[in-house]
Amino acid sequence: MMDPVQYERYSRQILFAPLGEEGQKRLLESRAVLVGCGALGTVLAGLLVRAGVGRLRLVDRDFVEFSNLQRQTLYEEADARDSLPKAVAAERRLRAANAGVEIEGLVADLTPENAAELLGGFPVILDGSDNFETRMLVNDYAVSAGVPWIYAAAVGSYGVTFTVRPGQTACLACLVESPEGGNGAASGCLAREETCDTAGVLNAAAGVVGALEAAEAMKLLSGHPEALSGRLISCDVWTSRFQSVQVAREPGCRACGRRDFRWLEGEAQPQVTMCGRDSVQIHERRRRLDLEELAQRLSAVAGGVRTNGFLLRFTVPPCEVTVFPDGRAVFKGTRDAAVARSLYARYIGA
Ligand SMILES: [Zn+2]
Repeated sequence: MMDPVQYERYSRQILFAPLGEEGQKRLLESRAVLVGCGALGTVLAGLLVRAGVGRLRLVDRDFVEFSNLQRQTLYEEADARDSLPKAVAAERRLRAANAGVEIEGLVADLTPENAAELLGGFPVILDGSDNFETRMLVNDYAVSAGVPWIYAAAVGSYGVTFTVRPGQTACLACLVESPEGGNGAASGCLAREETCDTAGVLNAAAGVVGALEAAEAMKLLSGHPEALSGRLISCDVWTSRFQSVQVAREPGCRACGRRDFRWLEGEAQPQVTMCGRDSVQIHERRRRLDLEELAQRLSAVAGGVRTNGFLLRFTVPPCEVTVFPDGRAVFKGTRDAAVARSLYARYIGA
């Protein structure tokens, strides 16, 4: 039951007929888990908490930096000065926005080992992550558990989102792992190599996509799956082009077809080992790197980028990074696997 304060607080949502009082009550009783609290995640979490979801768990492995403030709407300068974990800063800001929502910020790196513990028990999983590796892990977990999840990404002026409902829609593996075929057009627009740390990102692109993702989440959480878009939506806020395309399930899809969950089983994840006193090594076994191309991409965003044909070296605080053509990288200057994994995802891509 809603009390009079809640009626007043959510009155503009209750007045929206497709949602109404019933939809608002369901929202208040709903719960969701958000993976990643960067640009998309902060927009999404802010909207859902204000809309009155009952419970929101946030999982994020990073700290607030000054370069985040341009687009990550829950953070302030003091958070960056204090290098506060994003999960901690976001939880504070969201509590201040709506004390009626149960908010749980977890400083954690989502891995195959902890995926069930962090994501289990939530009827919807929301993507606020910034890298391919995490999204494939979320996809494998969600498809294996039969839980809907909302994929979203933004880079440059461009963003894309798609709601995955296992058994009913395509999954992320259908989109990005299919050969040139039915979904070729869709997968072509999901640039896997570019990241916000190399290609930049406009806050408006993240804002639009985060808002679309919030709307899809509200449909699921308020019991209106019939209103879900069912399509891959993309937009470019610089050219003002918006598109939505139908994406088909791939009958032979590795994840939702053959139920091969290699990201969840850890087989496709980069292996992380400690080497030396203050270095972490990441082995990425699935992909060879073009060092010249990578050097070109990094030259604008990292220091001391140089390659000798056998390896590429660059610096990005706190690490000096050495990258090998077989996808292996050594991060000198840290003993923290999560820092190395984060830098790998941001600068080398996945
Ligand atoms: Zn699939």
